[in-house]
Formats: sequence, C-alpha cells, structure tokens
Amino acid sequence: MTVVDVATAETVELLQTMIRNACVNDGTAASGQEVRSADVLQSFLEGAGLDVESYEPTPGRRSVVARIEGTDPTAPTLMLMGHTDVVPVSPAGWQRDPFGGELVDGEVWGRGAIDMLSLTASMAVATKHLARQGWRPRGTLVYLGVADEEAGGEHGADWLVQHELDAVGADYVLTESGGWTVDGPDGSKVVVTVGEKGAAWRRLRVHGTPAHGSMPFGTDNALVKAAEVVRRVAAYRPAAEINDVWRAYAASLDLDAETRAALVDPARVWDACESIADARTAKFAHACTHTTFSPDVVHGGTKTNVIPDEVVLEVDIRILPGQTSDDVDRMLADALGPLATHVTVEHLHDRPSSQSPTDTPLWHAIEGLVAKVRPEATLLPRITAGGTDATFFRDAGSVAYGFGLLSRAVTYEDFSSRFHGNDERIDVESLRLTTQCWLDLCPSFLG
Ligand SMILES: [Zn+2]
Repeated sequence: MTVVDVATAETVELLQTMIRNACVNDGTAASGQEVRSADVLQSFLEGAGLDVESYEPTPGRRSVVARIEGTDPTAPTLMLMGHTDVVPVSPAGWQRDPFGGELVDGEVWGRGAIDMLSLTASMAVATKHLARQGWRPRGTLVYLGVADEEAGGEHGADWLVQHELDAVGADYVLTESGGWTVDGPDGSKVVVTVGEKGAAWRRLRVHGTPAHGSMPFGTDNALVKAAEVVRRVAAYRPAAEINDVWRAYAASLDLDAETRAALVDPARVWDACESIADARTAKFAHACTHTTFSPDVVHGGTKTNVIPDEVVLEVDIRILPGQTSDDVDRMLADALGPLATHVTVEHLHDRPSSQSPTDTPLWHAIEGLVAKVRPEATLLPRITAGGTDATFFRDAGSVAYGFGLLSRAVTYEDFSSRFHGNDERIDVESLRLTTQCWLDLCPSFLG
C-alpha cells in the first residue's frame, strides 16, 4: 500500500470510531460527551509522539489540541480544526444504523460522515503522518478536535478562543463546509467557504390587557396582535445587499443569463429568487442577499376563556457581513410599524457575521492544490447562511476557510441534503482526497 492508501484506511477507521461514539449534541450542557472521541484522538495522535493538550470547560465536553512547532517564530501558524460532536437523528428516516459507521459499497454511513467527522478524522491522520515523518516546518501546525460546534461553541471553540488563545490561536484556520465541485456557465469551480452570516435572535413580547373571553369586542388581545406581528415580520422585505462574494457565486449558477443578472441587482433580486424553480438555490440566493427573518417559536395564553395579556415570539434573524445588531433592531421596528409600541424586543443571542479575504497566502495555496488535483477547476468563494466555529477565529484575527476536497461523486445536492439530514454518508474516495489534501497543503503552506 502507498502512504496515501495507509492514511486513507486510517481516516476510514477513525471516522467509523467517531460515528459509533455518537457524540450527539442536543444543545444541553450534559449532551455531546465528546470526551469519548477526544480520548480516541488523543491516543491516536500520541502514537506518533505528538504532545496533546486537552481542555474540558464543562464535564465531558473535552477538546484536544496537538501541535507541530515551527522552527521560525515569524512564520504563519495554520490550524486544522474539526468538531467531534454531531446533531441528533430521526432513525426512522435512515436506511442504515445512523451510529453504525458501516462501510458499504465504498461509502461510510452515519451521523457526522459529512458534518464533519470525516474532516476531523482526515485532519488528525494527516497531522499524525506528518509528525511521524519527522517533518519540521517553518510555521507551526495546530490540530484542534473541538467539542460543541453544533450548539454554538460555549463548551468548545468560543470558550477556547476566550480562555486559551495561546493554545488555539492561529493566523490561518481550515475547517468545515466546502470542497464540492459545481459546473456552471463559466466552468468547473471548487467551492470554499470564506464567510458566514451572523445571528441576531430576538424575543418579541407582545403586550395586551387581560379580560374575559366571553366578551371579546374591543378588547386588547395580545394573541390577535401577535398574529399580525408574525405576519408583518414574515412579509418584511429588507433592502437587498449585493457583495462581491455573492456576485462571483451568482455568475457560477446554472441559470439563464437574465436570472443571473437579476440576482446581482438589488432592485430585482427578490423577484429573481421567486422565479427560481429549484427551492434550494432560491433560498440560498435569498439568504446570501438579505437579512432573513424566521418567526419560529410562539408561547402564549393561559386559558380558553382568558384574553391573553402577553404572547412571546422568537425570531431567528440572520445578518450579512457588514450588518450589525443595531441594524436588526431598526429593521424590526420598521417591520412592526404601528405595532412597535405594543412589543418589547429582547436580544436572545447575537453573533456577528464574519468574512475572510481571498487574496491571502492560504487561498493561493488551496488554488495550487486544486490546480494539481482538479486542473479543470478554479476556486469559488461563498458565504454560508449557517454558523460554524470559524467565526470565533475570524473575530480573533484569523483568516478562516471552509474546505476539504470532495470527490466528484458528492454533489452540492448530496452534501446539503445529508448535512443534518437522513442517510448521511461519504465515499472513501472523498476521504482519500481530503486526507491527501492536508498532507500536500500543510508542507506547501508551512514550508
Ligand atoms: Zn459541522
């Protein structure tokens, strides 16, 4: 077997082990229990003589850090970061055991195969192989197997950046969400995530006056007002924002030229989104060009014959790079109009948007790698509507990208339908490519 075959086999096995560990993060502090996969990673990496540090801010929520120290303190530090937790499953929707880690017809099945235990495993394998080869780079390589990505990083990356920046700080970070290939009107492109939208979750308390439900005429019913609040928030059309990343992405979409042009025109983009037949493309185009408002929770009322004096709504709001929490409050006031005086707005959770530039040495290193492996393709940056741990590192000054080269067999449709979905799985060829990608990229970037 070649070095790559050996490394790929290790990635497959490590991925299977982590799938079987079922570190399911349901958002509660006691869930996840990533200590099990952290221990696996620690003994795996120590086998190559690496020193591994572990951090456990909350019982069971352990993250591990290994580093290959560079010889030149002025050279850049690169971190490979993979999370070890996964989201819950609905087993009835699966053809196979979601925590079986089965290898069937060249695919590894299980929760986390795409998001993102495959990368977490391949990054560990590459780090171990580079250490075992006695590689002494100019710049430092850091590996981070991190807990609690799926619930916002309070027990993982957010905590580590706040409390252990000496251990996890890096000039450059590679993590999840990217690496599939799209074929559009201007050729083949390998997608790299360069930024992500921020979150500005809001709780809206809609006020009324309690009264007897037997005589509703003229009463001040919080639920009736809340219905109008929901309608107004859902119908609200914020001004469109077209940034350069979206401009490039829209040009690569497999749509007619007129639609592609409309997608980068602030005056026409909303209508263009409505005209796109493919729902996945339409909602991505909309999310990449607008602040989005999704009313997702309602609590209210106490008894069938009591007119409610308060109804509580929760709205998932996502902001584009460049927008702030204050912008969101202005937009909400605009959406509520005359109802604004009947509503108290509370900030549930604010997380800034983030974006890294593409004219960086790491970007060019990824370009060089893709040119070798997939010479027909160029890189295509995109932002993601969801959040990842990359944001904490961008906030701390790192350039962070989502990347990990996938095989042609994994399309964007496959990637996104399996991500948090049923029948999550990845082909061994993608595991081989991704492992090889770190083995090539780290030496070429760090020297
Ligand atoms: Zn993930």
